[in-house]
Amino acid sequence: MTPLDNKLPEKINRLGELAYNLWWSWTPEARDLWKRLDYPLWRKTRHNPVQMLQEISDARLQDVARDSTFLRRYTKVMLQFDEMMANGHSWFHTTYPDLTQNVIAYFSFEFGLHNSLPIYSGGLGILSGDHIKESSDLGLPFVGVGFMYPQGYFRQRIPSHGWQEAVYEQLDMNKAPIQLVQDEHGTDIKISVKINGRPVHARIWKVNVGRNSLYLMDTDVDENEPWDRELSARLYSGDSETRIRQEMMLGLGGVRVLRALGLAPTVYHMNEGHSSFLILECIREYVAQGKSFEEAAALVRRHTVFTTHTPVPAGHDVFSYQLVEKYFNGFWDEMGISREHFLSLGAHQEPWGQAFNMTVLALHMAGQTNGVSKLHGRISREMWHEVWPDKPVEEVPISSITNGIHIPTWIATELGDEFTKYLGPDWLKRRDDPTLWQRLADMGDKELWLVHLELKRKMMRYLKDLVRRNWVDGRADPTQVLTGGTLLDPETLTIGFARRFATYKRATLIFRDLPRLQRILLDTHRPVQIIFAGKAHPADEPGKALIQEIYNLSKHNQLGGRIAFVEDYNMHMARYLTQGVDVWLNTPRRPREASGTSGMKAALNGVPNFSVLDGWWVEGYNGANGWVVGDGREFENEAAQDDFDANTIYQILEDEIVPLYYSRDRDGVPRGWVEVMRESIRSNAPYFSAQRMVKEYTSEMYVKAMNGDE
Ligand SMILES: *Cc1c(COP(=O)(O)O)cnc(C)c1O
Repeated sequence: MTPLDNKLPEKINRLGELAYNLWWSWTPEARDLWKRLDYPLWRKTRHNPVQMLQEISDARLQDVARDSTFLRRYTKVMLQFDEMMANGHSWFHTTYPDLTQNVIAYFSFEFGLHNSLPIYSGGLGILSGDHIKESSDLGLPFVGVGFMYPQGYFRQRIPSHGWQEAVYEQLDMNKAPIQLVQDEHGTDIKISVKINGRPVHARIWKVNVGRNSLYLMDTDVDENEPWDRELSARLYSGDSETRIRQEMMLGLGGVRVLRALGLAPTVYHMNEGHSSFLILECIREYVAQGKSFEEAAALVRRHTVFTTHTPVPAGHDVFSYQLVEKYFNGFWDEMGISREHFLSLGAHQEPWGQAFNMTVLALHMAGQTNGVSKLHGRISREMWHEVWPDKPVEEVPISSITNGIHIPTWIATELGDEFTKYLGPDWLKRRDDPTLWQRLADMGDKELWLVHLELKRKMMRYLKDLVRRNWVDGRADPTQVLTGGTLLDPETLTIGFARRFATYKRATLIFRDLPRLQRILLDTHRPVQIIFAGKAHPADEPGKALIQEIYNLSKHNQLGGRIAFVEDYNMHMARYLTQGVDVWLNTPRRPREASGTSGMKAALNGVPNFSVLDGWWVEGYNGANGWVVGDGREFENEAAQDDFDANTIYQILEDEIVPLYYSRDRDGVPRGWVEVMRESIRSNAPYFSAQRMVKEYTSEMYVKAMNGDE
């Protein structure tokens, strides 16, 4: 049942069910159905079927319910939907028929599923979203746990002075693809956690992600004090006091959500340390049943999996002992341990003194831990050697599972249609199989090139449309019309750089030698242009300064309108950019990019990477599928590193990338370039797919945890 069902004509009365399951968003036939239902409304609601069905006229609904072509498509989509839900022949069911009764609970602070649900900020959230989608495709018994943030992450505005402004909009919950979880009497199911002596309550929203459910806590309920109602209002805002309260809600509250729903997971997967407190709650439960702390900890250990994402020490959540004592006073009694023992579980020497580190808690207590690329696994073993001082560093028990992306979410529809032609109609089922992708050789150069050009034009139209809307709404002055990319040219070699503006990503590196860059951009015969996008965390002043620097350069007439800065980067825009530019640039300071995933999205769409040998690209680069910034060395001196790396950017652009891009045959096809495009797809798509990743999590970690093996 959905709130939309009563409005729908009998013949199409399952559209509500479809709108409330994000499966539609990664299924081309279903996306197409919404477009056909009411295209202007589809655009106006920014691809939000729930809102569409609320606003659509009855007359239009009656029309399509009589349209035999629409009905045929509708029936086909619903049949596909039912097959997906029935789930009998999934990979998990056929590979592990004895394990289907298990439940994997996946905890994350953010989930990037679709633009209509803005509860993500960047790579970590996109990864969680892709993980849960892929788990559905593979048939894993899987639930997600997180927060419903009524104000989500902020929307970015860049006024003409270039200093990013954060705009928080209240999300209309009725228009989001979420539904409150209620009992059989129609009463909202709620959980509560005692925080600082007072119970804080949360209601639970459910998101259908294919066959999986994602449960999101929301503390904006009547029973709560005003400040507690605000607790889950926004993602990543507030001081460490807000943060510890949020993390108590996620860890302790999240376990209670599962209990309230009658779920007893055999695997708890903590995606990053934000949810580490769940360990304490699970121990408390066992102790309440009469177990000793040691017995309880041993049991919890067998069933917990922890993924760390941050090679930067300052990136880990740390709370002062004072704060931990304030909030957990008495909780240690319920766990059967002393205050000192409790504090020792997360004890870590920070630059400013001993404190409670969420990563250390997870490392101590989880049975299995991994980093998110091979290099990151190695860095993590070095970084956390101190937790296992008696082991040699190579035996520190942190493995690695390299990230991947959910291909159905990130592939351009037009290119996906080509893959259906050349790889076969079942290509999506076998997307992690390298032999399948060898068949790309059969696709003609010209064909691949023309699809790319179409996607490039589409991306530019999209960017210009964004600018036009702001202009029409009176929100843009002429300078902002310029910086938003109106002077971009579809014939020009286009570099894309879009991601969070954290300083280690060195967004301004390519501007290090401005005159040299200027010569490259403004070359008469072979010009180059660059599109930038990305948000800085609202508290990250240096990050905002980088945005301003690039924004000001994009206004500079001497750069000829060949630099654009597009505001409000999000998943929707990420799709256009990673599908439509010619080269994807990434310049992190090695080894701080644990993995990175935007480059995988580009690679899949035939957009070669030009990137530092860090994170995933160390594993992805093969000499023929893109280019390398720097040479993989790490310099002591940061300025020297920047000089060296920037110099390789210019050199490779001048000597390799630009000439290759502009050398065309008689048909206007850059044969050499298309070869790199094809190799980018062939070599990267199968390995960096979330299908390979989720299968690895299953065979290497989940199955072990399900069986309770040490
Ligand atoms: C994929 C994605 C990211 C991750 O980008 P990286 O370059 O890997 O850091 C961040 N934000 C959005 C919106 C994305 O789609």
